Amino acid sequence: MKYDVIIVGAGPGGIFSAYQLTKKAPKLKVAVFETGNELSKRKCPIDGEKIKSCIKCKTCAIMNGFGGAGAFSDGKYNITNDFGGSLYRYIGHKKAIELMEYVDDINVSYGGAGTKMYSTSGNAFKTKCIQNKLTLLDASVRHLGTDINYIVLENIYNELKDKVDFYFNTTVEAISILENGYKVTTKKGDFECKRCIISVGRSGSKWMESVCRDLDIDTNSSRVDIGVRVEIPAVIFKHITDELYESKIVYKTEKFEDRVRTFCMNPNGIVVNENTNGIVTVNGHSFEDPSKKTENTNFALLVAKHFSEPFKDSNGYGENIARLSNMLGGGVIVQRFGDLERGRRSTKQRILENTVIPTLSATPGDLSLVLPKRILDGIIEMIYALDKIAPGTANDDTLLYGVEVKFYNMEVALDENLETKHKGLYVIGDGSGVTHSLSHASASGVFVADKIAEQLA
Ligand SMILES: Cc1cc2nc3c(=O)[nH]c(=O)nc-3n(C[C@H](O)[C@H](O)[C@H](O)COP(=O)(O)OP(=O)(O)OC[C@H]3O[C@@H](n4cnc5c(N)ncnc54)[C@H](O)[C@@H]3O)c2cc1C
Repeated sequence: MKYDVIIVGAGPGGIFSAYQLTKKAPKLKVAVFETGNELSKRKCPIDGEKIKSCIKCKTCAIMNGFGGAGAFSDGKYNITNDFGGSLYRYIGHKKAIELMEYVDDINVSYGGAGTKMYSTSGNAFKTKCIQNKLTLLDASVRHLGTDINYIVLENIYNELKDKVDFYFNTTVEAISILENGYKVTTKKGDFECKRCIISVGRSGSKWMESVCRDLDIDTNSSRVDIGVRVEIPAVIFKHITDELYESKIVYKTEKFEDRVRTFCMNPNGIVVNENTNGIVTVNGHSFEDPSKKTENTNFALLVAKHFSEPFKDSNGYGENIARLSNMLGGGVIVQRFGDLERGRRSTKQRILENTVIPTLSATPGDLSLVLPKRILDGIIEMIYALDKIAPGTANDDTLLYGVEVKFYNMEVALDENLETKHKGLYVIGDGSGVTHSLSHASASGVFVADKIAEQLA
């Protein structure tokens, strides 16, 4: 089978590439290959009753399938160059913002109208942060919510399904170079294309490494973020989340001058498991639908760990820390902040008696047995710093889930077109190491599709 363009991966990067190609070059024959299921068939077996924790399915319904890792996410599309990726380094600050705004317009027109756009600009809270040694990063954020995000994806899929060939449950095993394009190998056969866009996200990171090895493409891996997910009564952060929804706050620790930051804030949300290549970590999201809102807010506190030569496997370091929590807790561990401060594990009884009721069923335990001291010290310092702008954050009953690891895909060597040294082979989204968010991944998809449309339309 021959195509003009083959896209590997149907996450936001792949979807927006496909979408843009159908708009800018409707005559091109485009196929999308995806390891996971189509959207309507994505169902995580954890029901909280019969199945309480991750059973390590062959493909993870949360991470794989149409919509990618973003399908059941909180749908927070941050429009900023301050975080979420470094797309601007390749395509320029202005273009990156323009494309993120373009993606936002599409999301709004496919079901997101009526959702709110929040902004940090000119906010009084920024001053309060500075006065307390905290820095609030600038961004505009569209919060679709898990439910509307799903509807937007459903609508985009309905728009695309007759114009693009989707191959679900079809993992691409290898990519090889042909004289005038590429061959994509799957269990269902080989497929050829003139241009190939790889958009395999974090779950495809190991495979991406093998592609780079096989095709002799340079890579670099030096960063991983490690920390915990904090769960508190929503009222404690209400004055912040009502106005900003998501606030990215950075703190420089006094002890080591490490940077600790808040990440992925979910007002009235739930804490969830995340399975990356068989390792269970923690994440969170929230719904736009008022009936699905909880009494709690959750967010991650992450410490960035940068490694220098000769160590090259930053993700391996993060994985092993996560493995330790999986070994001790059989999955994610939960601990009361008061127990952590007193140097004791949380027990089932203490969690039952806690005033903050956990939204994720995790194993009560001791995070100090899992997290390196320097990282844990940084997290504790930041909790006390946040307590000054949101009193109650450092309460004994605050829950900490661990571990949360933000794996960064190794950075693939790409030029200003997000093209590898092999002409016509592009790598976009989180799998490229260039992006780490819905908005940046989607924007990178639009960018590359425009480039291909210019060449082939
Ligand atoms: C629970 C959760 C909540 C999140 N919340 C937010 C949020 O609110 N805001 C935000 O900005 N970001 C959020 N993120 C991160 C965001 O989802 C990712 O940054 C984004 O999805 C990256 O898009 P992508 O297209 O690059 O990769 P992905 O979304 O990971 O998609 C890659 C796709 O490729 C497929 N694939 C992998 N390997 C192969 C292969 N060999 N062959 C075929 N298919 C393959 C995978 O199955 C997957 O579907 C969240 C992530 C999670 C897990």
